[in-house]
Amino acid sequence: MEKKEAPKSALDALVSLCKRRGFIFQSSEIYGGFAGFWDYGPLGCEMKRNIKESWWRFTVRDREDVEGLDASIIMHPAIWKASGHLDTFSDPMSMCKGNCRKLMRADQIWDVFEESTLRETLAGMLGEAGKIATWCKGKGKSAAPGLYTVQHPEYLEKIFEQLKTITDVKELFILLATPEGETNVLPCPNCGGVMTEPRPFNLMFKTIVGPVEDPSNVAYLRPETAQAIFAEFANVMVASRQMPPFGIGQIGKSFRNEVTPRNYIFRSREFEQMEVEFFIKPDEAVELLCGHVAPLTDETDLSEPQADWGWECWHKYWVEQRKQWLVKNGLPEDSFVEYWQKPDELAHYARACVDIEYRFPFGVQELEGIAARSDFDLSRHQEHSGKSMEVFDEPLKLAVKKLSDEEKAAFRAKTVAEWEARGKTAEAANAFLDRLFEGRYIPHVIEPSAGVDRMALAMLCNAYEEQKLVDEKGKEDIRTVLHLAPAIAPVKVGVFPLVKNKPELYALARDIFKKLQRRYNCFWDESGAIGRRYRRQDEIGTPFCVTVDFDTLEKDGTVTLRDRDTMQQERISVDDLIRRLDDLILG
Ligand code: ATP
Repeated sequence: MEKKEAPKSALDALVSLCKRRGFIFQSSEIYGGFAGFWDYGPLGCEMKRNIKESWWRFTVRDREDVEGLDASIIMHPAIWKASGHLDTFSDPMSMCKGNCRKLMRADQIWDVFEESTLRETLAGMLGEAGKIATWCKGKGKSAAPGLYTVQHPEYLEKIFEQLKTITDVKELFILLATPEGETNVLPCPNCGGVMTEPRPFNLMFKTIVGPVEDPSNVAYLRPETAQAIFAEFANVMVASRQMPPFGIGQIGKSFRNEVTPRNYIFRSREFEQMEVEFFIKPDEAVELLCGHVAPLTDETDLSEPQADWGWECWHKYWVEQRKQWLVKNGLPEDSFVEYWQKPDELAHYARACVDIEYRFPFGVQELEGIAARSDFDLSRHQEHSGKSMEVFDEPLKLAVKKLSDEEKAAFRAKTVAEWEARGKTAEAANAFLDRLFEGRYIPHVIEPSAGVDRMALAMLCNAYEEQKLVDEKGKEDIRTVLHLAPAIAPVKVGVFPLVKNKPELYALARDIFKKLQRRYNCFWDESGAIGRRYRRQDEIGTPFCVTVDFDTLEKDGTVTLRDRDTMQQERISVDDLIRRLDDLILG
């Protein structure tokens, strides 16, 4: 079943719930907020930790072929020169020359317009030239003071006939914003003024290291966690006695001076990433070792890595691994889309890149990406640092030794032809082969890269529901519930004593709470009717509630276990309760 995008209003309701219940606050709110920065409150920070913990377990700790890293945020600036971030990590930026002087990412101007009230107003007047002219001379003065026709109402007469026939709101906006005699203007979606030509703007935050404010002391807050992994590749490989194929995973803060941070926590200036660089042998090495490279077909079994896999199988394997993780953590398969970048969209060094996109209420947008980046990154660091990023592969050297001169020559001719077909030179291919025949190569890399904050937003959007309930007397009620996966939910179990004024019952409930609290995050609530207490937990996504009542004390020692999603309750002994909750929560 195709899942529909949630309406935009659903995001407003979610944003309000997240503030009210302590998931997410605007940073520096008491000073009016700070665009692009967010704070995670008591529940939000638990949820974020759970996302990271689940990713770390699935991607690093439970695997023998992935090691962890926690590198510094500020690194030697030469890293960003080598990676290309200093020269090319920029967005095209435009500034409004009209009233508001707003800076905006040029490629997002139309997205901002789509969401604006100005668009709504113009759409409501399409084809009605008289109405448009009246608006420009009246309400338009405050709604779009930068608009050319607002500032020059006399021009309206000249375009009056055109205004009657335009059926597209974007076209209408451009016409109203374009000064007489000019063409191709980009209007400002905020005030209707004209935007400047887009100019590149580097997204890295600069800082000064040490007490002297000198250009030679400039450093950068990392815009991604990946580069530290490349810089530490050799250290980690040696220290952990790994050989490709193996990966290094890292979770940590990244910073991008985004020109237009927007859509709540979707695009921020400070955010967290969960990235793996998975280093593999080049396909030529696999072929020499195994006699072939496994082709990737619809029938390829991707459940367990194989020695004869080349980059294509490894890349698809990681796409599948990431999808498995998303589903395991509560995002249904039909809530996201796999977008394979087209050849002309790929970076020059990339062999393939898949964006996993989520159907957010504001549109289908990238949640994470899985890229096959060839040996680009390690080669650049080898070139810039002068330090070798090659590995020495003894079995490869032995495999080459067994080849006859004719077999080697044939392999060389075939490889050179393949490299030339990919636009590389014969010289580069031959230099690579000379090293390969000695058992040496720079590993290639598959990079699954996800954002913690975007993941949290996708999970919250997916989980949010306002359920209409009708009780036995026919009375309608709305139940707000977050259907978060138990592993992700900030509170796992709510524990309630039925009444406060029965000391033995209260003490028993406290005892159960303490036992459970040792295993997972629990919430104690003794105030209000039980129904109200359930609702408070539903709203924050607590998957289970336990109530200790008179039967617990006086009859059979059982408690009530209530399920958030089905609202079903069952009686269960305290020993069984712990076993059951372990299964349901820890998996
Ligand atoms: P976009 O095209 O949305 O700017 P990107 O392709 O530049 O994203 P990457 O550089 O591939 O993103 O970063 C990997 C992941 O990090 C993204 O898929 C996203 O989840 C997260 N991410 C990137 N930029 C931001 C941001 N400004 N705010 C929050 N998360 C981000």
